[in-house]
Amino acid sequence: MRWGLVGASTIAAEWMIDAIRSNSGEIIGVQSASAEHGAEYAAKHGIPFSTTQLEALLDKQPDAIYISSVNDKHRTQLEAAAKRGIHVLCEKPLATSLDDAKAMVQVCAENSVRFATNHHLRWAASHQTIRAAIAAGEIGEVRSARVFHAVYLPPHLQGWRIDNPAAGGGVVLDITVHNCDILAYLLGEYPQEVVSMTEHKLFGDKVEDEAMSVWRYPSGVLAYTHESFATPHAGHGIEIHGSEGSLFGESVMSQRPVGRVFLQRDGVRQELACEPHNLYDAAVADFVAAIEEGRSPACDGVAGTRSLAVALAVLESAAEGRKVSVDYAGV
Ligand code: NDP
Repeated sequence: MRWGLVGASTIAAEWMIDAIRSNSGEIIGVQSASAEHGAEYAAKHGIPFSTTQLEALLDKQPDAIYISSVNDKHRTQLEAAAKRGIHVLCEKPLATSLDDAKAMVQVCAENSVRFATNHHLRWAASHQTIRAAIAAGEIGEVRSARVFHAVYLPPHLQGWRIDNPAAGGGVVLDITVHNCDILAYLLGEYPQEVVSMTEHKLFGDKVEDEAMSVWRYPSGVLAYTHESFATPHAGHGIEIHGSEGSLFGESVMSQRPVGRVFLQRDGVRQELACEPHNLYDAAVADFVAAIEEGRSPACDGVAGTRSLAVALAVLESAAEGRKVSVDYAGV
């Protein structure tokens, strides 16, 4: 498959270029707003073409594009590709508003193009193991969940994420969307209402760098989540608690294929086997298979829109100091 990169980004450099190539993808070009950065990036990653003009990249007729620009650019870039019948794998958060994300889903449907959201965690062997254990009834009826995804934002990522609300900066749009998606993957449902608080701990007052919230699901499950850019020593993980047992994913909220899963039942703690694999390779593999098989990707634009809706509700709850019903805008 022939791919165009939209955005000369860190995530593409660190993970996605390799993931595309390991799925036999050919990267034919990259578009960046900066001619100099785009040219340097292309040379460094062995990409034969760079341009500042999205249309020039699309004129090369890639089968798909991977969008990893800053979040407020995603919608217009996706629309340009979808209208030409080009499939899109887009980074999260899909956009900075629900209207934008909804329009993205719509334009892809109208043009019959496949649209995937790059929520990587559901491709981790650890989370797949937790999901299988829940489905097998190992913990009985699920009652509650806890996600602790509080990290220290590495210096090379301390750019727009910490000072640019218009670009979709802030820990909620960055990390809460992932937490929502992984809980949806594990629990099979999305929250109905949320209540949250945010803080500005370390990186100035333009966007929040710390958030905690409680989410209620239609089944009655309650989940609490902690996201942070300012918590260097906490470690990260997920817990799912049921009537017959609990599942613990230790160090599993990672880009890397790491972490361990434990099942606790009847006072006995047992490690569950999970064979690690590259999360991003698996995400690209599913997107490619979806195109070939004419089906929706497992994590599609609807999933990306719903995780954005929850993050926006978390921000609204924190801003207004009240419980908020999540508005999924009919998506
Ligand atoms: P970066 O800041 O590395 O890149 C974003 C954009 O910033 C680039 O596309 C580029 O703009 C511009 N840029 C970056 N470096 C330079 C430079 N040296 N000179 C000029 N312009 C530069 O962002 P990330 O890679 O961290 O994030 C990109 C997207 O990916 C976001 O949507 C983010 O939320 C998502 N993401 C997803 C992850 C996941 O696991 N699913 C993990 C990390 C990020 P231009 O568009 O002009 O090329």
